[in-house]
Amino acid sequence: MIGYRDVVSKIDLRELMAPGKSFRGNNPVKIMCPWHNDTTPSLAIYHDHAYCYGCYKRVSILEWIAEENGLDIASDFRSVVELANSKYVGLISLPSSPLRTPNSRIADEQDLSIKPLDISFAKYCHDHLGEKRAWFTGRGLTDQVIDSELLGYLNNAFTIPVWNSAWQLLTMRYRRDDTITQTGSKYWGIKTRNRAFLYNSKALTRDYMRINNGLVVLCEGELDCLRLWCEGINSVSFTNGVGAFRPEFVPSFSLASRILVAFDIDNAGQKEAHRIADMLGDRASIMTWDASLGKDITDLANNQGIDYVKNLISGEVNGI
Ligand SMILES: [Zn+2]
Repeated sequence: MIGYRDVVSKIDLRELMAPGKSFRGNNPVKIMCPWHNDTTPSLAIYHDHAYCYGCYKRVSILEWIAEENGLDIASDFRSVVELANSKYVGLISLPSSPLRTPNSRIADEQDLSIKPLDISFAKYCHDHLGEKRAWFTGRGLTDQVIDSELLGYLNNAFTIPVWNSAWQLLTMRYRRDDTITQTGSKYWGIKTRNRAFLYNSKALTRDYMRINNGLVVLCEGELDCLRLWCEGINSVSFTNGVGAFRPEFVPSFSLASRILVAFDIDNAGQKEAHRIADMLGDRASIMTWDASLGKDITDLANNQGIDYVKNLISGEVNGI
């Protein structure tokens, strides 16, 4: 079976982006960067990616092919692979990639209305994580969760796949790489898939609800949610930031008997925590702690230790 790895392994980006230029071994070819007004050759092209030392643009093989051909790598991933194959490689009988078979009842049924993305796209981003993995581990995430969730990196941004509870890929969230830029949006998504989704909705399925006695922690962001998930704490979140929780999400919480709303300790976070707790009813309570201990779950765990967070969740300590 031929997948994107078979295709990209037969392509050398140096031959595509700098045809006719000679190179040796793994050495990069340097050319004038087409993405900024370059005065010296700032774009270093390696066999599998290119990086500009002037404007910090980074492209992988398939991203470059997508960009050259006006395709969107996220929504047209399979077309990009097929085009790369037909144009540059010529492997035969490229099969369409099978989706992971749904094996659990889907908690977030409203998300079935959207056609899932090809999960190969998430794998592709995960394959490009490389040394950027340290950013995720620095936030307390384990390698096991980084690998199982297929967290990745693409085009100067961290990638966070959004799965439904049947492991179908609903969308991709991008998180700015602060070492590249600290201006502009911190998070963004895929065109046409920018509405809010529940994140880590598998936590709301019967299996996880049973293991956790109906307890779930509702976090303000994807990374806080994953931080708890790494500790075996049942946690869920949603995309698009603090104000994005929709009433349509409430039915997905039908099996939860205790919902702890653990939002950032700031005005926006606490105001929203109250609005959502009202929506969820008596089962919901707001988890809070003194702001000096940490502004969000990740911060709190870093500053006070994860046991402090666990005790807060179990009600053994009062954070105020
Ligand atoms: Zn450049």
